[in-house]
Amino acid sequence: MYVPRPCKVFIRDWQTNVQFFRNSTVLPSATYWGQYEEITKYNADLNVAERMWAAWYAWMQNDVLATGIMSFVMHELVYFGRSLPWIFIDSLGFFKGYKIQSSKIPSLREQWDCAKFVLLSHFTVELPQIWLFHPMAQFCGLQTSIPFPSPWTMAYQIAIFFVMEDTWHYFSHRALHWGPLYKAIHKIHHQYSAPFGLAAEYASPIEVMILGFGTVGCPILWCAFTGDLHILTMYIWIVLRLFQAIDAHSGYEFPWSLHHFLPFWAGADHHDLHHEKFIGNYSSSFRWWDYLLDTEYTPDALKRRRENKAGAKKAQ
Ligand SMILES: [Zn+2]
Ligand SMILES: [Zn+2]
Repeated sequence: MYVPRPCKVFIRDWQTNVQFFRNSTVLPSATYWGQYEEITKYNADLNVAERMWAAWYAWMQNDVLATGIMSFVMHELVYFGRSLPWIFIDSLGFFKGYKIQSSKIPSLREQWDCAKFVLLSHFTVELPQIWLFHPMAQFCGLQTSIPFPSPWTMAYQIAIFFVMEDTWHYFSHRALHWGPLYKAIHKIHHQYSAPFGLAAEYASPIEVMILGFGTVGCPILWCAFTGDLHILTMYIWIVLRLFQAIDAHSGYEFPWSLHHFLPFWAGADHHDLHHEKFIGNYSSSFRWWDYLLDTEYTPDALKRRRENKAGAKKAQ
């Protein structure tokens, strides 16, 4: 028989949420949905997502495990889930006219080999790091409490993370193209001169750590300075960043691609050329660093450079 007992972990983790405890006498239930029902009974003001979130932590009774499992499963679902449409598009030949390097369509075999490598890296390199995430997040003051922050707070923080990560990515990626570092670390990622969605995380474990610091470290730095960041905001940011990385590697450029509406957005058009030419276009999300530091590699930038050179020669 299941005997309810007070949930210690739950109390510790949610203690900052005064309103929650004022109304609540939640005891652990044998099932996740039992826990959800308990929370619903005493917290009518919470929305469904907040109740599910609270029920998950209460049911797990182990915060490190709860955050670790949630982070790892989310990463796998989003990474492979977002890559799947690109696998179909490549193998069924949809949108052939929009393929950037149209003669280099990856075979299913190539994509499968890439997926195996990425999975191995996720389970051996990323999983242990994801397990450290909760203790690190708590140490840095990330909130796990409910209610969630407002959509506006999440939106402006995510916009800041995009800018911070892009800056980190530009300089560290550019450094990785320096001869010795390229040979030792970054060469693996450039195995595919015509990239595809799944190849976004096809990289050396050292590269995953260096570039991954931009994705995980920037929000943590933000939290260390402002003391204001919820883990959910971090999750939404990571999901959007995964979408950005996978789409940038997709190899397809559409008339409806985001950079046609936001000219400073990088997109596939920008990163595909980086893989094809091995030079320039070092940024991840935006075009401004490549533009400012003259490392842009696009037909327009090449034309501009030629004109500048010709102008300089005439002036001599
Ligand atoms: Zn590169
Ligand atoms: Zn790449």
